[in-house]
Amino acid sequence: MTLVLKDLNIEGFERVVEVINEVCGLHAVIAVHDTTLGPALGGIRFFPYNTIEDAITDATRLGKGMTHKAVMAGVGFGGGKSVIMVRPGYKTEALLRAFAEAVNALGGLYISAPDYGCTIDDIKIIREVTKYVVSVPGDQGSGDPSPFTAYGTVLAMKATLKQLFGTESFKGKTVAIQGLGSVGFKIAEQLFWLEAELVVADPCLEKTQDAKRFFGAKVVSTEEILSVECDLLAPCALGGVINSHTIPDLRCKAIVGCANNQLLGDLDAKALKDRDILYAPDFVANAGGLINVSFELNEEGYKPQNARDKIHQIDETLTKIYELAEENDCSTQAAVMSLIEYRLKHNIGKREVPVYFHELVGV
Ligand code: NAD
Repeated sequence: MTLVLKDLNIEGFERVVEVINEVCGLHAVIAVHDTTLGPALGGIRFFPYNTIEDAITDATRLGKGMTHKAVMAGVGFGGGKSVIMVRPGYKTEALLRAFAEAVNALGGLYISAPDYGCTIDDIKIIREVTKYVVSVPGDQGSGDPSPFTAYGTVLAMKATLKQLFGTESFKGKTVAIQGLGSVGFKIAEQLFWLEAELVVADPCLEKTQDAKRFFGAKVVSTEEILSVECDLLAPCALGGVINSHTIPDLRCKAIVGCANNQLLGDLDAKALKDRDILYAPDFVANAGGLINVSFELNEEGYKPQNARDKIHQIDETLTKIYELAEENDCSTQAAVMSLIEYRLKHNIGKREVPVYFHELVGV
């Protein structure tokens, strides 16, 4: 027996397993946070963690975040995450296969997907061993999630403008975008056509020059972008950028971006409220990618129109959060957490039909 699954007892989690296969050097953690509304769906992250404790901390933090995102997206899934401790260059086919065996051993409690360090080629290998994986290559796959994430984030921006100014028009409004990656650049493009004024920053000169040339964006340094005077600030690069050091210098009316885990600490949401800065909870604004991938497991097969139509609900969801925060004079983060608790308690959005696993076609 080479594959070992060791159950870890972590409070608040349905199941957390440490996965070891010494033969191929696999050391991973799969954290299943909550499956009240459906099987846990979440990415596979490859990272050279120093210790197993670091890996457990990251897997559980990210797995819990996936529950929040899935509950608010109303996709009939729960939240989970897996992390694989691996040094660059040590990712082998045998390791991927061994990990897939572990996913299989959980019997569908957790459905995996790509995350940091995981490629579509990796997913292809994993899919040969387990059906519990999405973002598969071929005709049944949902493909690149970034256009869907960008579209959803722009809808979140519109809902935020409506809340602030009573109109969702971007005309005469300034949006500052931190990060012009797969999602950030697409957001910039959409905002250009919606007549927003753009200010952008990215360490990659080519990307900022393209944004200047194609969208007339003003380019500022990565140090300046968070304190630019603007209507909306869109963190689209790294997590933790909204924190006790950056909040005092913010000169935006609202924060709406695609980056995961934008708030560094528990007190940051309240600090934003105190500064009268409206915050769109990141996992609501950036749920487009998750919504897109969730449609791979429908019996009728993946159709981008279904994902697009579901993403339209981000507007309504965010508006509800803003109203709730206003009624209760609390932060938007506190409001969304109370909604999550309510939905889980009352099974709102629970999956009605089982997930459907398609045969791979066109790979
Ligand atoms: P990406 O790696 O393609 O882009 C990140 C961009 O940020 C790069 O262009 C990079 O140069 C830039 N950047 C790095 N440091 C910066 C800094 N200090 N200031 C300004 N720019 C900086 O990533 P992505 O797929 O566009 O994702 C962006 C964020 O959105 C990440 O936090 C990701 O987790 C989150 N997210 C992405 C998706 C998706 O569909 N790709 C879905 C949900 C959440």
